[in-house]
Amino acid sequence: MSDYDSVSADVETEEEIPEDHPRYQDLLTRHRIEAGVEKGITHLQGMHAEGRGSAFDYLLGEETIPSADEAERAAAAHLLLADRPVLSINGNVAALVPGEMAALADAVDADLEVNLFNRTPDRIEAIAEHLREHGADDVKGLEADARIPNLDHERSKVDADGIYAADVVLVPLEDGDRAEALDEMGKTEIVIDLNPLSRSPQVADVPIVDNIIRAVPTITEHARDLADADEATLRAIVEDFDRERALEAAEERIRSGEL
Ligand code: ATP
Repeated sequence: MSDYDSVSADVETEEEIPEDHPRYQDLLTRHRIEAGVEKGITHLQGMHAEGRGSAFDYLLGEETIPSADEAERAAAAHLLLADRPVLSINGNVAALVPGEMAALADAVDADLEVNLFNRTPDRIEAIAEHLREHGADDVKGLEADARIPNLDHERSKVDADGIYAADVVLVPLEDGDRAEALDEMGKTEIVIDLNPLSRSPQVADVPIVDNIIRAVPTITEHARDLADADEATLRAIVEDFDRERALEAAEERIRSGEL
């Protein structure tokens, strides 16, 4: 067993993970997903998604590359300009960044909506409760009184006054079918996904190729920095952002290891 595996296997609370460990962020992420599964908020499939993400993060150097930081600034500008911004939460997002998503919702005045691939009433309630424990005031997704067109019944469920009516949606770690269906509804879609070739970032208006544990606090920082910016400044940030360039820069970094 390597040092890496022995740290991961022995840890019961995240405070026990040594912060100077060279793979600290990865160990923390893995631990939070395991704790999420134990708590009933993350589906077992979420562990596979995490494994895929971890491999891409390794290739990205486990850091926020400059093109991702630009995308995070553009995401903040979109969210501040939006009339009805909604941040979508699935089991992995809830396990990894519950307090950080609540802080972002607060900074840009957005709603949080639980939106699950494997939807059960118990998991939805557990996630909503977990978010409230981490500072969220109001959590949507429990009504499920509207449907996203062109998706199978279970995965199409959303709140009529939440994702269904949103103009800008942040959908981290989203499944490709749902990302495409939301795109077809004409929404401005911000996706966080470590794999630039996955379908979700490919259809996003703002693809953020970064680990969600770094991306969400960075979007919040940009949003706080831009809180007093006028509309023209925010629109200029949105218009200057080039989604193709962001996807290419991430792919180039992964393939070559160089910026
Ligand atoms: P598609 O979008 O084409 O359906 P997929 O089947 O690989 O691709 P999912 O399993 O639905 O996608 O979602 C997992 C995605 O989330 C993967 O692309 C993975 O790279 C990404 N991911 C996993 N963990 C993280 C993380 N911590 N931060 C950002 N992205 C992550």
